[in-house]
Amino acid sequence: MKRLLLDILCCIKCSDNLFFSENILATDKDEIDSGALECKGCGKQYPIINGIPVFQADALDQNVTAKAFSEQWNAHKKGLFEKKDVFGFTENDYISHFCYAFDIKNHHSLKEVIIEAGIGSGCLAYTLAKESSNATIVGIDISDSVFSLSSTARELPNLHLIQCDLVNPPIKKGTADKVYSSGVLHHTENPSIGLSRLWSLVNKKGELYFWVYPSYVHCAYDWLRKFLGHPYKWTSKVRYSLSWLLAPIMWTYFFSTKRYSYKQSQETIETIAFRIFDNISPEFQHRISKNEVAAWCNHAGIKSFKIINDLGVHCSNGS
Ligand SMILES: [Zn+2]
Repeated sequence: MKRLLLDILCCIKCSDNLFFSENILATDKDEIDSGALECKGCGKQYPIINGIPVFQADALDQNVTAKAFSEQWNAHKKGLFEKKDVFGFTENDYISHFCYAFDIKNHHSLKEVIIEAGIGSGCLAYTLAKESSNATIVGIDISDSVFSLSSTARELPNLHLIQCDLVNPPIKKGTADKVYSSGVLHHTENPSIGLSRLWSLVNKKGELYFWVYPSYVHCAYDWLRKFLGHPYKWTSKVRYSLSWLLAPIMWTYFFSTKRYSYKQSQETIETIAFRIFDNISPEFQHRISKNEVAAWCNHAGIKSFKIINDLGVHCSNGS
């Protein structure tokens, strides 16, 4: 982690400032490789592992969601599903969606603090950091996927990574100009609480965008998840084998009915297998109505929100 990141971090127990413990090892003067962060208030220590600060290390070990997504992103990185794209989308697709969400004309000129809550593969966080070199990108994720990006983050001075739960982020309130969270909140136990926490990270002039699964749009993967009962309780090997077994059947269904679940066109078998794995692995996978997102926004104290398509939500203070 870069020393600069310390400015925005805080303790997840008492919100006090953190400092570097004496045992830190630095690869150079700006980059801390290992050691720990310590809270000035309560003394709680948080380890820095492979250059990534890790919050709630003990709890994350036992967290079913963290484990499921660690398995998923490790499998993707090894090329066990798609070789390059992520859910059938390219780097440019991810940037385009980010720009669309915030109505950004030229992302190269951004100079803001942007938090991506739930980076998954890291495709957006990495590409944004590379192409918006004057912006500060902070990528957080509950899974081990952050570690696969740790060497990349060292090469990009504006990319910061944190392993943490978005429901209890170790980031000072009002830090961000933009918070972006796509396809993540519906995997938390209580998405309304998650949204409130993310909104607290946004400064007064800032904005937040989140995307969640709509409950009112047909989704073959969701039907499959429900049909299987509690597939997240099965081992990852069983879920992996089943994903590849069912992918050709799903491909045939999409091909014959033209009822694609997420994209406008037919996806490859690899992408469909990955989507099946993605849909049957998490413990929580809520599907949300427009009324529910409105209730969440009201609960979080968001003054102005606008629903964009199915089901993206842009939030601001309306100024
Ligand atoms: Zn503390």
